Amino acid sequence: MHQIRIGNLEIDVFRKDIKNLHLAVYPPNGRVRIAAPLKSNEESIRLFAVSKITWIKNQQKKFHEQVRQSEREYVSGESHYVYGTRYLLTVIPDSPKNHVNIRNKTYLDLYVKKGSTKEQREKVITEWYRKQLKSEIPQIIEKWQDIMCVEVKDWGVKKMRTKWGSCNIENQRIWINLDLAKKPKHCLEYVIVHEMVHLLERNHNDQFVAYMDRFLPQWRIIKNELNKLIFY
Ligand SMILES: [Zn+2]
Repeated sequence: MHQIRIGNLEIDVFRKDIKNLHLAVYPPNGRVRIAAPLKSNEESIRLFAVSKITWIKNQQKKFHEQVRQSEREYVSGESHYVYGTRYLLTVIPDSPKNHVNIRNKTYLDLYVKKGSTKEQREKVITEWYRKQLKSEIPQIIEKWQDIMCVEVKDWGVKKMRTKWGSCNIENQRIWINLDLAKKPKHCLEYVIVHEMVHLLERNHNDQFVAYMDRFLPQWRIIKNELNKLIFY
């Protein structure tokens, strides 16, 4: 790997046994990477990068906006998502009890005790998200246990930074990412099905894909939908 510089832009260049130059910008910081054929010369790589500058800058801008959006203060007026639907947060301070309520299909009312900090408000919402998932997951698992003839012995919800779910095959236990409470329900179902297929096939091989095609023929579309979303 080496780097080239165009203006204030640094680009990592990798040589690979490929036919064409390939460019990618990666979240969350907008790192730029070019994969180049083994025999390509420096000049052609540089020209290629220059021709893509506008696209690179646009991608980087998009990532930075997403990072900004993900920084929440948990104050009134912010957008928060529940199962793919956007709600406007309304903080109701000085409440006798912490709780969360959806109102008029529009507002996410957050009742908090007097003098709540951002961290406390975040925790109330996080626990509410956890409760939403915990009431939804059992019926999805039950449905798919019957279809797939496998048994999930235990499951849980937790914060995960790089994965939507995981499966411990030996213990027949699956873990679901807490952030799935913000995504459409079909995304939650897709992740559960994926993890449950691991009880039939450990690896992401052809057999695994064949199971996914059989159980959830539209799984690729849902996977793409999820991969467009970025973790922080
Ligand atoms: Zn997997």
